[in-house]
Amino acid sequence: MARLLLIEDDPAIRNSLLRALRERGHAVAAAGAAMEGLQTALAERPDLIVLDLGLPDLDGRELLRMLRAVSRVPVIVATARDEETEMVRLLDAGADDYVVKPFTAAQLDARIRAVLRRGGEAEGTPRLTVGGLHIDPAARTVTLDGAEVELSPREFDLLHHLAQRAGQVVTKRELLSEVWQVPYGGADKTVDVHLSWLRRKLGETAQEPRYLHTVRGVGVKLSEPA
Ligand code: CA
Repeated sequence: MARLLLIEDDPAIRNSLLRALRERGHAVAAAGAAMEGLQTALAERPDLIVLDLGLPDLDGRELLRMLRAVSRVPVIVATARDEETEMVRLLDAGADDYVVKPFTAAQLDARIRAVLRRGGEAEGTPRLTVGGLHIDPAARTVTLDGAEVELSPREFDLLHHLAQRAGQVVTKRELLSEVWQVPYGGADKTVDVHLSWLRRKLGETAQEPRYLHTVRGVGVKLSEPA
């Protein structure tokens, strides 16, 4: 059982999700507006938040940024827009996953369980070192040559996955399935975009790689600089 917070202004959607998620064994609190949601999140410390983007008092993206400034609580965003650029933006803004409206309670519950499982695994995952790169999965922090590197949640997951397979070529297909939890039909472009952001934050380029090496037509490899 998880303690969830549902932030959704539409009373019909809110009540039916509340009922369905409770029937599925979760303890669910609800808020009908962004500021009420933020207060409840801080007071109740839920295990996960389901956040509707279209809220009356504040844009859901803005609330996501405010939440991320104070908490690492997993957030699943409910959005009406099924566009890749929007998804990339949301994930980079700190969403852990998203569901596109209309969605069923069963779909949402599957996402909730997947996100919580991911978080639970990180607790007992050992720290990793590749050259001057240190990755702490429990604290979700990365340092490079002693300096902290600020990564979005998705960039962190990407780097962590590659570090677990350091020295091996990892395919984009595997990254989509393991990091993005998209088993089929995901866009390689999503991986490319995040890899280029990650490169920039590690202070390198595709042309002059240190840690992240593209293996053309196959995938990407994280390895210690020569
Ligand atoms: Ca709404």
